[in-house]
Amino acid sequence: MNAPDPPSPPARRGLRRPALWALLVGLLVVAQSLLVALTVNYEASRSQDEIETVGAEAAVQMRRELLQVMQQLQLLAWSGAEDAAWSAAAVELMRRRPELLRVERRDAALQVAAFADTPTGPPLFARMARGDLSVDTEVACAAARRQSAPLFSRSFFVPMADGRGAEVVDLCIPVLRAGRDDGFVVGSFGLAPLLDEVMTPQQMRRTEISVVEGDGARLARAGGPRGAGVFVAERLVDLPGTSLRLRVDSAAGRPSLIPNLTLALVLGLSIALFAVVLLLARDVRRRAEAERALAEALSLRQAMENSLITGLRARNLDGEVTYANPAFCAMVGFSPEELHTPVPPYWPPEFVEQYRQRQESRRESVLTEQQRQGFETVFMRRNGERFPVMIYEAPLRDPQGRHTGWMSTVLDVSAQRSMEELSRQQQERLQASARLATVGEMASLMSHELNQPLAAIASYATGSLNLLDEPDPQGAVPMLRQALERIAEQAERAGRIIKSVHSFVRRREQQREVIGTDLLIEGVLPLVRLQARKSGTRIEVDLPPKPPRVLCDRTLLEQVLLNLSRNGIQAMEADTPLDERVLTLRVRQTHPQWVTFGVIDRGPGIAPEVAARLFTPFFTTRAEGMGLGLSLCRTVIEQHGGALDFGTAPPHGTEFRFTLPAPRQAESRQTAPPAA
Ligand code: ADP
Repeated sequence: MNAPDPPSPPARRGLRRPALWALLVGLLVVAQSLLVALTVNYEASRSQDEIETVGAEAAVQMRRELLQVMQQLQLLAWSGAEDAAWSAAAVELMRRRPELLRVERRDAALQVAAFADTPTGPPLFARMARGDLSVDTEVACAAARRQSAPLFSRSFFVPMADGRGAEVVDLCIPVLRAGRDDGFVVGSFGLAPLLDEVMTPQQMRRTEISVVEGDGARLARAGGPRGAGVFVAERLVDLPGTSLRLRVDSAAGRPSLIPNLTLALVLGLSIALFAVVLLLARDVRRRAEAERALAEALSLRQAMENSLITGLRARNLDGEVTYANPAFCAMVGFSPEELHTPVPPYWPPEFVEQYRQRQESRRESVLTEQQRQGFETVFMRRNGERFPVMIYEAPLRDPQGRHTGWMSTVLDVSAQRSMEELSRQQQERLQASARLATVGEMASLMSHELNQPLAAIASYATGSLNLLDEPDPQGAVPMLRQALERIAEQAERAGRIIKSVHSFVRRREQQREVIGTDLLIEGVLPLVRLQARKSGTRIEVDLPPKPPRVLCDRTLLEQVLLNLSRNGIQAMEADTPLDERVLTLRVRQTHPQWVTFGVIDRGPGIAPEVAARLFTPFFTTRAEGMGLGLSLCRTVIEQHGGALDFGTAPPHGTEFRFTLPAPRQAESRQTAPPAA
């Protein structure tokens, strides 16, 4: 049987919390209940102790009272007073001791010789004759005689006139006169008045006191309230001849909760404790809710970060990476932990110094607009591969607004760059083919051009040979020298023609340089002239007195000028009269940063339907044309940051204009650096 899967940690935590709370509340309930129970118990035992003390004191007091009265009765017995004096003494004694209800003098045969009733109440034997209630007394007297000591009888009930009755105990004191038995003195004690004597009025108010029999039957009682039967104490009062069971019963019931101060305090504390626990619970619940909301927000942020394909990176002011998202780690190939180094591992070693300086300057300065717009730099992957990245940075601020570092978005632009490189190469190849096409066209022109110097060379050579056959070769030497000089000149001319084409065709690395416009025009002029000669076109160059300089790729610009010139020359070939065939190359500095070139012909102009498609590749109106010239020209000019357009040149003809950037001050003094 498979064991059930353990709950996942968050679920277990979710279960554990209520369980812990239940446990806490349970413990509190138990602790508080115990405390209350203990307090109640303590109160109960205190009340019990109190009643025990009252009981003990009452027993002692009762015994003392009875024994004192016994002594006084003994004195009365031994006083020897007769009749009237005896009665007076007895009445006096009963007045002082209300519990003593009757005093009798009996003879040796136990017959009542004289008696006195208490002056404080009705006579004891008014309803029933004394003789009918003497059994216990006689038993006690018989025993007292035997022991020659006063003895108490068992208690007995005497019905009274008012329908009630009194529980009475008799004390029998044997009287010996001159060693002879001389009767008895018997005192009858009412138990109820006796009880009144043994308790203080204060005790009486709170306690019921009674004399009970062994089975609990009450014989006599005293005290204000009825006992509640909860806190009870019983004491035996040992008397000579008998014993009385004394019972004290507190009027107070079980301690009730509220009136008791200690209890109230405990309860108040308990309630306060519960209130605190409730408040705590509410606080914990709110905290848990806040935690949950925070966790949700965090997981959302995490999910967002993980799904981002843009690299994110945070750095402190020392440049150490403090955070990198998964996309950034994947881009550079390092784990987040590996990035926490003083020198980031993705800095190519050869650039470390440069990057550090850049970082230093960044720390000191406020973010420049360019940095905000992003800048390009080179990073290194784990495998050592360098790749270009675009970085956009923003300052990181803490809640107090202090600047603590930088947050950067990093884009891998290597794919973009390789696409650009590919298209650049294609452009270059296209340009090369266009150049070759131009060269092809020129080849025929060249053969025509080369014919002249070659024919001249041939004729000078023939002339020279003829001179050598002269009878006086010495005289022919000056002419020979002249002919050879001409040959050399013509050969040089032919060489120049070939060279101009060669240097044009030769494919060079693209590079920009600062060059004077006069030099640029001069460089292309021989080729333009070569094209122009066939149709008899004149070439005019219109340069300002101080020709401006431009920043450009010389080879490409020569080709642009050559293309535009060729187009102009060709446009004039058909209908333009020979004396009007003039092509003007014009240069003007139209703006401090821009130089404008113009190629102006006197041809028929450009028809609107042709104008609409002029720069479309492969659009041509010429049978032998390729239709690439103008589109390539525009690409080249735009690559330089300039623009190419055209317009009519009055009175008739077309002007093609393009702009090139003028070098900035620093660059104009030296050759421009390689492209950024
Ligand atoms: P191609 O010279 O091979 O035809 P281009 O792109 O250089 O290709 O020129 C395209 C067309 O533009 C030409 O065929 C021609 O009709 C027209 N064109 C170019 N320059 C001029 C000009 N200066 N005057 C009149 N038409 C021109």
